[in-house]
Amino acid sequence: MVNLDDLYREILLDHYRNPRNRRSLESANASADGSNPLCGDEITLELQLDDDGRIADVAFSGDGCSISQASSSLMTEHIKGRNSKDAGAAIDAFQAMMVEGEEAPEELGDIGALAGVRKFPMRVKCASLAWKTLELALAQRDRDGDAPRATVTTDERSTLNG
Ligand code: ZN
Repeated sequence: MVNLDDLYREILLDHYRNPRNRRSLESANASADGSNPLCGDEITLELQLDDDGRIADVAFSGDGCSISQASSSLMTEHIKGRNSKDAGAAIDAFQAMMVEGEEAPEELGDIGALAGVRKFPMRVKCASLAWKTLELALAQRDRDGDAPRATVTTDERSTLNG
């Protein structure tokens, strides 16, 4: 029988070693920077939203620990092609899993692998960084598409304050 922890570790290692959507996006029309000073993780997230709110393309860049990088890769893979409302629902589901300790919801797929990080509060911030940055990028877009790029850190109060 496959050990669940091993399976989770494999998923995270795969995304760390072969990150999805790790590049910059020329056509981005929403973006945000996030940092987790406790660990030194940094992420720049860029979205290309079309007129009906669908995330046509997404890219991330930055440096950080394996958890932050794997989480960024998993997150971008999940939201690409979805509309921003669905992305918001995914943020909520991720928060419920990581912060409130709920079972990994099926619709999050491989992202459930990050549930194993919950035992380590410091790493929860690493895992949450990409999602907090996504939340900010989407909020910026709602407010003003031309707003200067906003920055979020894991120390700030937000819905994903782990
Ligand atoms: Zn980290």
